[in-house]
Parts: sequence; C-alpha cells; structure tokens
Amino acid sequence: RAKELGPGNYHFFNDDINRCTQEKLHVELLLHKAVEEEQLQLWFQPIVDVESGELVSAEALLRWHDQELGWVDPEHFVEIAETSGQINTIGLWVLRRAEFYSKRWRAKFFNELSLAVNVSVNQFHDSRLFAEVKRIYDDSQRLNDNEAPRLELEITERLLLSDSERIRQQLNDIRKLGFELSIDDFGTGYSSLSYLKRCPVNTVKIDKSFIQGLPEDRENATLVTAIVAMAHGLNLKVIAEGVESEAQWTFLKQVNCDLMQGFHVGRPMPAEDFESFLSEQYTERC
Ligand code: C2E
Ligand code: MG
Ligand code: MG
Ligand code: MG
Repeated sequence: RAKELGPGNYHFFNDDINRCTQEKLHVELLLHKAVEEEQLQLWFQPIVDVESGELVSAEALLRWHDQELGWVDPEHFVEIAETSGQINTIGLWVLRRAEFYSKRWRAKFFNELSLAVNVSVNQFHDSRLFAEVKRIYDDSQRLNDNEAPRLELEITERLLLSDSERIRQQLNDIRKLGFELSIDDFGTGYSSLSYLKRCPVNTVKIDKSFIQGLPEDRENATLVTAIVAMAHGLNLKVIAEGVESEAQWTFLKQVNCDLMQGFHVGRPMPAEDFESFLSEQYTERC
C-alpha cells in the first residue's frame, strides 16, 4: 500500500514483501525508541455543538515525528503498534496524558470540557487498560474535586463484533466509573446493529466517508439522516466526523446531528496550541 504523505515523509513500499516486513520492523524499532524517549505527542481536535457551534470536547490524536522518517501517518504507526503489541503501552501513555490535560483545562478554563481518547481492540485484552481507568477514577475520588477528568473512550465496531460477554462486562465496568463510550468510524465495520441495544455506549461517531460528499451525495445524505434518527431513537448522541464545509454543517443542522468535528471547525493541534485556542475563548478561572 503506497501512501503519498507529501515531501519529506515516509513511504511504504508494497512491491517487495520482504522489504515491507523489514520496513515494518525498522519502524517498530524507531517507535519503541520514540516511546521510551517520550517523543510521541498528543494533539487535540475540537468537537463542537452543531446547533450553537460551541466547544464541547476534543479528540486526542497521536502524532509522531521521527528524525529519519519525518511525520509518520498515525494510521500507519498505530497499525504497526497493534501488530507488535506496543499499542498497549502507548495507549496507557495516551490515557495518562489525556487525564493530565483534562484536569488542567477543566480547572483553568471550562469545567464541562470532555476529552475523547482512541482505544484499540487489543487494549481490551490487556488488564492494564482497566487498571489504568480504575486508577484515574480512584485518584479523582481521592481528590474529590470538580476538576476530575472527564474522559470518553472511542472504540470501534470491531470490538463489539466479537460479541463476547467479557468485553461487554468490561465496557459496563468502565461506564460505571463514569467514563463515556463512543463508537468511532460508525458505519464502516460490518457488525450487526443489534449490539447498539446491548452495549453501554453513549455516542456514535459517523465516519467521515459518509460526511465528505454531503450535501450533494443523495445516498450518503440518506444514510446520515437515518443514522441520526436511529441513534436518537436509542438515546445515543451523534458526532459527525470530517466536516469540511459550511454546506455540510448546514446539512447536519437540518438532520439534528448533535456534535461535529472536522477541518471546517478546527484541525488537530498540539496541546499548547489547543490551550491558546481555549484561552482565546474562555477567561481563565484561576
Ligand atoms: P479516528 O479516531 O477516526 O480520528 C479521526 C481522524 O480524522 C484523524 O486522523 C483526524 O485528523 C482526521 N480528521 C479530522 N477532521 C477531518 C476532516 O475534516 N477531514 C479529513 N480528511 N480528516 C479529518 P489522524 O489523526 O490521522 O488519525 C488516524 C487514526 O489513527 C484515528 O482515526 C485513529 O483510528 C488512530 N489513532 C490516532 N490516535 C490514536 C490513539 O491515541 N490511539 C489509537 N488506538 N489510535 C489512534
Ligand atoms: Mg477517533
Ligand atoms: Mg473516526
Ligand atoms: Mg479512523
């Protein structure tokens, strides 16, 4: 799978499987080093209310810049990290950073702010995920302050496909600790919709592939309208991903979509920039 990432970026060769494996091993090694040396970054992309345009939350997104490879596409290195098992450690780091910024920004600017974190399927097969979620909960109880982190975990339909009782129990336990759950890339998996009834999710995030042709693309317009109606019927909130134009926003208003995220609203940005963005909108509370 050749991927154009622009000048100075990393290219992934598909003409030679051996070479491809070597490349992967090489990236895996560099990634390992990056984790140890704390070179991964967490960026944030605003999520706003469709009706009012007001900020509600932000999605935390991994970024990695390597001296040799340049900026590496997150989909690429997350996939490598999933295959190698590194995602478990990386995922814990992501949770801790998100916890840190959540407390900081809620205290400083805006107490209702929530942050969304992506969690890989693999992490649900490692007990450290739940232990970390529990630790975050316990710490917030101990401090008992109103700046306790508000975190939302983004999972994928693939996780629910297994339909295992163990996974469902884990999701229930996470919910009981006050974390929210959303289904990322909704509509791209091939799961049966019946899981929506059984799993304790709060939100569906409509995949950007459904949003991008709107409003002209009649088929996608029909699908998006139906997804919003179905989700609302099940008491779920809906976020539209990949909103790039005013016309798409207008369409989402018409179909009563709750929240949206996309380049039209704001691009993912480094934590410092997101903090400046917050300070332009809110007066510091302390
Ligand atoms: P995702 O969770 O579906 O994240 C949304 C992706 O859409 C992000 O890509 C974001 O930059 C991009 N995006 C947002 N608005 C727009 C828009 O208006 N137009 C377009 N074309 N794209 C938009 P990104 O940052 O490259 O991340 C790709 C994927 O990598 C994520 O998809 C997620 O699956 C994975 N990922 C990123 N960070 C993490 C992480 O901390 N943990 C795990 N497990 N996966 C992560
Ligand atoms: Mg996501
Ligand atoms: Mg998504
Ligand atoms: Mg995605």
